[in-house]
Amino acid sequence: MHVLVIGSGLSGLAIAIALALAGHQVEVLEAADEITYIGAGIQISPNASRILRRLGVDKHIEKYCTEPVDLRMMRWQDGKILVECPLKEPAQNQYGSPYWHIHRADLHRGLLARANELGIQSHLDCRVVDVEPDTPAVTTARGRRFTADFIIAADGLNSICRHIVAGQASHPIPTGQMVYRVTLPARRLEGIPELEEMITVPRNNHWIGPHGTVLSYLLEGVNEKLVNLVFTCDTRMEDGVNQKIGTNEEVREAFKGWDPRLDLILKHVDSVLEWRLYTHSTLPTWVHPSAKLCLIGDAAHAMTPYLAQGAAMGIEDAAVLGGLLAALMPSSTSSSPPDPDALRRTLHLYTTLRLPRCAHIAEASIGSRWFTQMEDGPEQEARDAWLLEHPGIWEGHINIRSRKEFLDELFGWDFEAVLREAVKAEASLGEKESLEERSQ
Ligand SMILES: Cc1cc2nc3c(=O)[nH]c(=O)nc-3n(C[C@H](O)[C@H](O)[C@H](O)COP(=O)(O)OP(=O)(O)OC[C@H]3O[C@@H](n4cnc5c(N)ncnc54)[C@H](O)[C@@H]3O)c2cc1C
Repeated sequence: MHVLVIGSGLSGLAIAIALALAGHQVEVLEAADEITYIGAGIQISPNASRILRRLGVDKHIEKYCTEPVDLRMMRWQDGKILVECPLKEPAQNQYGSPYWHIHRADLHRGLLARANELGIQSHLDCRVVDVEPDTPAVTTARGRRFTADFIIAADGLNSICRHIVAGQASHPIPTGQMVYRVTLPARRLEGIPELEEMITVPRNNHWIGPHGTVLSYLLEGVNEKLVNLVFTCDTRMEDGVNQKIGTNEEVREAFKGWDPRLDLILKHVDSVLEWRLYTHSTLPTWVHPSAKLCLIGDAAHAMTPYLAQGAAMGIEDAAVLGGLLAALMPSSTSSSPPDPDALRRTLHLYTTLRLPRCAHIAEASIGSRWFTQMEDGPEQEARDAWLLEHPGIWEGHINIRSRKEFLDELFGWDFEAVLREAVKAEASLGEKESLEERSQ
């Protein structure tokens, strides 16, 4: 089958790789005229690292990955440790795949290297401005027209395909919060005793406070070790601005009164990336009625980043959609178009498997915002007292990041088992239907 993928972000590249591995012919259309590497660190949890390994991306990125020992939650004012949730040990021993911290640029480069290795055709400077879902075909801003058997829209939060697929407007919704993102060489903080642990022990340091959080972790980087920080707070950006380069003074002002170690770090920072946080409502479907266009990644389910699962969900989508198309729509050397009924059923299965899980994780992410950003007062005191008494991972833990059943569901999610089950069920349904047809 000939497939067009719109968008060369993490989800677009992941699905392109999955389809190429299944023998489909894939072309990727990217709006940018060159691949630039902005952004900061990203967390890749076991549910996603398992897939990247299976797609053969690991060999391009492993040397840039750090494995955090745990997630340490601390009180915002003084860094008092409230709870530590192990990450490295359960990732390896229970979930069978690592928890990684990596710079987005290194992950993106690794996906691109794998895509190139598989001979995937990629077109830059191809901003899709018009989509004909029934043909299916797209036209770019420069007037180029591409046709295919099937189109996958991986065009992110501001997807132009989302409303076409959903049949209704679905604009990004501001969450009311923003982040300041910072990366700096760890060597700049050497020799400061208060920061020594932060620049030597790979972990997820998480300060939690009223209306805000701070996250810090180490990145391997290409040339040297980096410290990555994400400061989340209620929006302080002027109206109409979604991303901009800001100064360390702005962050120091916004986080005045927080753990003095944060201010010590910020003194060594030159610039920060300011980023307004958006989400969008859960869609009724991710597949166009023509069954020739579908959504994946942020285009389908841009979620809040409080659980660090947005990209992981896009990678999961790629594994499921790619796996279903491999099993139920095997590639063929014939130039005839794919069986439309088979494609429709496959895409229906894709939505059935993915939409509820993504909606559930998006909701859990919103819950995590509430849990970590509550006002100081009796409820926060009760939370902190409980956390102090319950270190580690437990069934029924009040902190979702320590709740065993949730982690099993999130990190233990095994795409191969999910696909096996789904394909088996689809095959027996097909058999039943053909028996019924024959008996009529
Ligand atoms: C502060 C923050 C921290 C985060 N941390 C994590 C984390 O730790 N772990 C995690 O799993 N997730 C995290 N996320 C979420 C994650 O960044 C996103 O979910 C992920 O990057 C989405 O990837 P995507 O490929 O679906 O979309 P995008 O990355 O938005 O890619 C879309 C691509 O499509 C291209 N495009 C757009 N429109 C067109 C068009 N019309 N024609 C052609 N091309 C087009 C764009 O140029 C872009 O290359 C975080 C998000 C934020 C905001």
